[in-house]
Amino acid sequence: MIDHSGQLHEVRAKNLLLATGGAGQLFAITTNPSVATGDGVAMALRAGVAVADLEFFQFHPTALYHPGIPRPLLSEALRGHGALLRNSAGERFIDEMLPRDVVSRAILAEMLQQQTDHVWLDATGLDHFAERFPTIYSDLVASGLDPMTDWLPVAPAAHHQCGGIVTDLSGATSLPGLWAAGETSCSGVHGANRLASNSLLEGMVFGPRAIESIAGGAFGPRPTGAMRSVLGFADSADSSLSIGGVALPVPELGPTGPTGKPDSAATPESLRRYIQQAMSTDAGVQRSAESLQRVWQVIGQTLAALDHMDPQVVAVAEVRNLAQIAQTLVAAALARTESRGTHARIDYPATDPAQTHRLVTGI
Ligand SMILES: Cc1cc2nc3c(=O)[nH]c(=O)nc-3n(C[C@H](O)[C@H](O)[C@H](O)COP(=O)(O)OP(=O)(O)OC[C@H]3O[C@@H](n4cnc5c(N)ncnc54)[C@H](O)[C@@H]3O)c2cc1C
Repeated sequence: MIDHSGQLHEVRAKNLLLATGGAGQLFAITTNPSVATGDGVAMALRAGVAVADLEFFQFHPTALYHPGIPRPLLSEALRGHGALLRNSAGERFIDEMLPRDVVSRAILAEMLQQQTDHVWLDATGLDHFAERFPTIYSDLVASGLDPMTDWLPVAPAAHHQCGGIVTDLSGATSLPGLWAAGETSCSGVHGANRLASNSLLEGMVFGPRAIESIAGGAFGPRPTGAMRSVLGFADSADSSLSIGGVALPVPELGPTGPTGKPDSAATPESLRRYIQQAMSTDAGVQRSAESLQRVWQVIGQTLAALDHMDPQVVAVAEVRNLAQIAQTLVAAALARTESRGTHARIDYPATDPAQTHRLVTGI
């Protein structure tokens, strides 16, 4: 543990519950706060604890296009009440009520085709906006927008990490004494594509379950929930409903670039922006083998540059965590030669029934 003065302390405990949230900061454009650097998942990866489903990262299609991060959300409720998506020519281009991944890809396609960095959400037809959507309204007013008269600039933003540290239905990980709950975990709730609003419920259910299990003296995982992908599911009442696990090899990172040397002028902040930009461009809403190979190179350069920095500095530790998660995410995205849920490969657009399994590291 690093305290506020930068001192490192060792704290020993029989049980440890990780509840460190997701890793939206992997991407340049995100709805997640600056602390969402996936610290728990990165620690689990380093400890050889089972981690799965990192290739499934949900993008929210309609985050307000805005210079600041995190990006404010313009929720589905607006589209549910009749707000329309329009391209730069003012034309509708997608059924606004399709799932998040489908709408995100349609927006990205429109942005690429029209060489823009956003599309428009037209909520001018909605009545009583300020009363029905007070939080969104105040975000818009703070950005100088009036939803009664202005079309609202929107673009997809990284929103939710569907995978994480594999747990059973009590939050136990593959390492006895280590527990995980919430967005850092892969409990089995989200699969390849989280349903909106399941995350807060997940935290409310599995946080208390982990604490009750610890209090009850449990130690080590059982073959329930996503942990069946690690321990097998021979004891399941209906094994046809269980998703098997396949070991994900994470290859070594190659040389760090044409010169083989990291950039000596790099800072933790510049490295963070470097990897975020690469992840957004090449491993975000859609990916291909070619784009993922480009990110692989960036991850190698980032980790090499970090080797020259003080690992106890929080900013350095956070970028290292992001880079290590990116390494596993990209390895999984390369290995999953299909499109499924939030994972969209433009070179493999179809879903392959033979890949109905979790890719798991640490087994
Ligand atoms: C804008 C937005 C809107 C959302 N709306 C909904 C919704 O309507 N319904 C829904 O179900 N979900 C929603 N979600 C998703 C949901 O909020 C998250 O999945 C959920 O909050 C995750 O909870 P958590 O406790 O796992 O992590 P978090 O709430 O992210 O909390 C993690 C905590 O761990 C701390 N932490 C991280 N690393 C360290 C470290 N190394 N040391 C010490 N502390 C650390 C962080 O500071 C933070 O306090 C939304 C998310 C966003 C960003």
